[in-house]
Order: sequence, then structure tokens, then C-alpha cells
Amino acid sequence: MLKHINDKAKIWAKLWQKQIALGIVPYYMFVERDTGAKKYFEVPLYKAWSIYQQALQKVGGLGRTVRGPSMSANPGKVEVLGTNQINGEKVFILCVIQASNPDWTYRPFFAKYPETATWLNHLQPLEEEHFFFEEVKEASSN
Ligand SMILES: *Cc1c(COP(=O)(O)O)cnc(C)c1O
Repeated sequence: MLKHINDKAKIWAKLWQKQIALGIVPYYMFVERDTGAKKYFEVPLYKAWSIYQQALQKVGGLGRTVRGPSMSANPGKVEVLGTNQINGEKVFILCVIQASNPDWTYRPFFAKYPETATWLNHLQPLEEEHFFFEEVKEASSN
């Protein structure tokens, strides 16, 4: 998903419908990587998720196989599952959908909710010092 290019729900809904019509099952929605000209193209994670959620409403079951906005980051592919509140505090709910360590796969986790966050390294755990996928890295680099 790129700002100025396709950061609109109706563009995604149209793309997925077209893909389904052509026999292509859409299954990933990636947000722009944390590299290069990202300043111009980056979309805040909460907004990317909102675009995803609105686009999903416009498509049928096969189109709804698309995972939420995902980041191809160091621990693996991390999907934004949505947002919610815990004890009155807004949070992101995320999930590692494919990981360098297979045991991290499909473990949902929470993160604080900075509206400006556009990449995994802008997120922080709610109470723990590290995300579970960071503790291992830390231990091995010490
Ligand atoms: C992983 C990945 C793909 C391909 O994923 P498969 O699970 O092998 O289909 C394509 N683009 C990006 C950015 C990825 O991270």
C-alpha cells in the first residue's frame, strides 16, 4: 500500500474483485517497507488497517482471504489484525504470520498505538520490555 498511489479502499476492492475474476486469489496486502523513499509513500498502520477493513466489506468470500496490512520485517511477516482498547488504552493487535523462528507463527500480540506508526520498529509492547520475538534476538547477541 502506497500513499498517493493506492491508499483508498475502493482501489483495493476493485483490484481484489478483478483478481478473483481472473482466478487469482489475493492473500497479502503489504505496507511500504522501511526503506528508500518511504516518507512520501508511507501510510500509518492504523490507516492501512482501516483501508483494508473498508475494502473487505466490498468483496465476496474469496476476496476476503486477503490478510490485513503486513510488514515484511526482521522477525518475519507481521500482520496488523486490528485495533482495540485495553483498560481504556488504544492498542494494535498484531500477528506474526511467517517467521524466521517457526514457533513465533500465529501468536497474536498487542502493541501500543502511536497514530504515527508506519513500521514495526515504531511499536512497543504494552507492559513487557520486549516483544517475544525480540527477546530471543537480544539473548543471542549478548
Ligand atoms: C513473503 C513475501 C512475498 C511472497 O510470499 P509467499 O508467502 O512466498 O507467497 C512477496 N512479497 C513480500 C514483500 C514478501 O514479504
